[in-house]
Amino acid sequence: MITIAIDGPSGAGKSTIAKLLAKKLDIMYLDTGAMYRCLGLKALKSGLDVKDEATVKNMLDRTMVDVRYIDGVQKVFLDDIDVTAEIREHAVSKMASDISAVPCVRKKMADSQREIAKKRDCVLDGRDIGSYVLPDAKFKFFLTASAEVRACRRVKELAQKGQDLPYEQVLSDIIARDYNDSHRQIAPLVQVADAVLIDSSDLSVDEVINKFLVVIGDKKRV
Ligand code: C5P
Repeated sequence: MITIAIDGPSGAGKSTIAKLLAKKLDIMYLDTGAMYRCLGLKALKSGLDVKDEATVKNMLDRTMVDVRYIDGVQKVFLDDIDVTAEIREHAVSKMASDISAVPCVRKKMADSQREIAKKRDCVLDGRDIGSYVLPDAKFKFFLTASAEVRACRRVKELAQKGQDLPYEQVLSDIIARDYNDSHRQIAPLVQVADAVLIDSSDLSVDEVINKFLVVIGDKKRV
């Protein structure tokens, strides 16, 4: 069974790389951030106080987050509604980060990610895959880039979707999200000792993919 864990901060290019890698290796891709984004979206829509764990737990027990593959494309469903595009909105990012820090949320999401990963070869991207969800993953990577490069990429990505946000706001949101993600009590964002560090700041997508493939090829031969 091949399991590839890719962790790292927001905007480092994890999902782009994970998707391409899954295609090249013909294995499944699971975007774990999308699952937290679904909960963030529901919390945002219902005006939920994410600091109140009992309320969050109540919502969690009544929520279905589902990742499905339709014609080979990953779609994310929240309570049976396709929210693939909606969860990418900028306002959802902060809420996803806030709700992901709630212990019952982390437990439920990690359990369902383990369930999915134990059935097939896959590449998962997130913040805690190599450290908490799948500490025995065969391949572990920590993909990062400077906050400035990540903010530039995010501004372009949002603009392509018709969301025009100033660079300064996106940069400060990224820095705040990095802080949130790496300072929460359960399963914070960390680079584990056995993860290979790749900094994508000055690399093209092809260069990053090549680095991943070299590590995977080398390790497979061992
Ligand atoms: O990766 P993405 O930016 O879509 O994730 C949204 C948020 O979900 C992150 O800021 C992070 O707080 C949370 N997340 C997490 N653990 C994961 C994946 C995402 O806490 N494995």
